[in-house]
Amino acid sequence: MTERLYYEDAYLWEFDGKVVAEKTEKDGRWIALDRSAFYPTSGGQPYDTGTLSRNGQIAEVTDVEADREGYVWHRVNLEIPVGSEVHGCIDGERRTDHMEQHGGEHMLAGAIWEKLGGTTIGLHLGKEDSSIDVSMPDGRTHLTEEEIRMLEETVNARIRLDAPIRCWFPGEEELAALPLRKKPTVTEHVRIVAMGDFEMVACGGTHPASTGRIGQIKVISALPSRGKIRITFVCGGRAERMFRLYMQCAHKAGNVLSCPVEKLASNAGELKARLADAERRVNRYETERILEAIRQNEDAESLKGITLSVTMLEETDAKPAAEAVSRYIQEDGRALLLSVGERLTFARSRDVDIDMNELIRRVGRGGGRPDLASGAGIPQCAEVARKILMTEGKNRAWRKKI
Ligand SMILES: [Zn+2]
Repeated sequence: MTERLYYEDAYLWEFDGKVVAEKTEKDGRWIALDRSAFYPTSGGQPYDTGTLSRNGQIAEVTDVEADREGYVWHRVNLEIPVGSEVHGCIDGERRTDHMEQHGGEHMLAGAIWEKLGGTTIGLHLGKEDSSIDVSMPDGRTHLTEEEIRMLEETVNARIRLDAPIRCWFPGEEELAALPLRKKPTVTEHVRIVAMGDFEMVACGGTHPASTGRIGQIKVISALPSRGKIRITFVCGGRAERMFRLYMQCAHKAGNVLSCPVEKLASNAGELKARLADAERRVNRYETERILEAIRQNEDAESLKGITLSVTMLEETDAKPAAEAVSRYIQEDGRALLLSVGERLTFARSRDVDIDMNELIRRVGRGGGRPDLASGAGIPQCAEVARKILMTEGKNRAWRKKI
C-alpha cells in the first residue's frame, strides 16, 4: 500500500520514495511507489502530472492511478527498476488549479444543500470548466436567476472569509456524530473534509488549505440534465481568465458598435431590427428586378397556347428568386425555365401540362413537384430544356382544363 503524502500536505510538490512494483500495460510502463504525493484520478478529480527522477535521469509522469490494494501507480516513459530510490516533482500549477475547482465544488454543493436542500450527485472536473449534477427536493430541473446569484454570492462571501479547511480520518464514534452533508460511500478509512462551518463531507481528494485559496467562483450555467440540474462553474485562476476573456470580447464588441459595454445588448438588438428591415427592402426590390427579367424573356410563339420564359440570371439570394417565381406562375398559361447562377428552377402555372419534375431530371440534378422543381446545373441547362419542349411538343396542346 502506498503512503499518500497529499493527505497530510496538499501543497507538497517534491518528495522521495522507492519503487516497490512495476508492470507494463498496453498504454505504457507503470511503477508503484512506497510513498507518493501524486494524486491518482478519483472522485471526479483528475490525476497529477510531473516527474520522477533517479541518478540524473528524469521520467515524465503522464498518468496516475490507484489500485484496489491501495497502491498508487505512475505511468512513466523510462525504465525504473524495483528498489530504485526516486525523487518526485508534482506539476504544482496543474494541482493548484484542480484544488481550486474541487474546493469550489465543495463550497457550491454545501451552499445548495444548506440554502435549497439540493443533493449533489456527481462532479465532473473538465479542462475548461467543471460541473455538478444536483437533485432538488421538489424534483425541479432549473434554478432561477436570483437563486444562481444567491448561491454565487454565498460561496464567494465564504471564500473571502478565508476559513480553514481541515482533512482527517475520524474514529468510528466521532464519525457517527459528525454533521455530514451526505452519507459516506465507503465504510473504512473514511476521510472527512471540513471547510469552515460551511461544508463537511467524506472525501479523499486534495483541498486548498483555506477557503480563501479557492479564489472565487463563477457559475456559468444551470441547465436541466436527465431530471437533475447540471450546474457548470469555474473557480480561482480559471474564473479570472474567463472574466478577462469576456471583458476583452465585450470591449471589442463595444468598439464595433461604438457604445459602452452596458449598452451592447440594446444596441445589438436595434441593429438586428434595422438589418432585418433593410433585408426586407432589398428582397422586395430584388423580387421586382427578377420578375422584370423573367417578363422580358417571355416567348408567346414557340409553344402553342402558353407563354414560355427562359431566363438566366447571375447569382442572387434564393429568397427573392423564389418569391418572383411564385408570383410569376400565378398568372395562367405560364412556363418558366430559370437559372440563377447554378441554381435551376423550372415552374409552371397550374393550367399548363408540363411535368417540370421530369424535365429538370433530364437536364440537371434535382427534382420536386410537377408544377415546381428545383436543382443544380449549368445555366445552359435551361436552354436545353427549352429545346426538349420544342422538339417533343410539336402540335400538342399545352393547356389543360382545371
Ligand atoms: Zn474533496
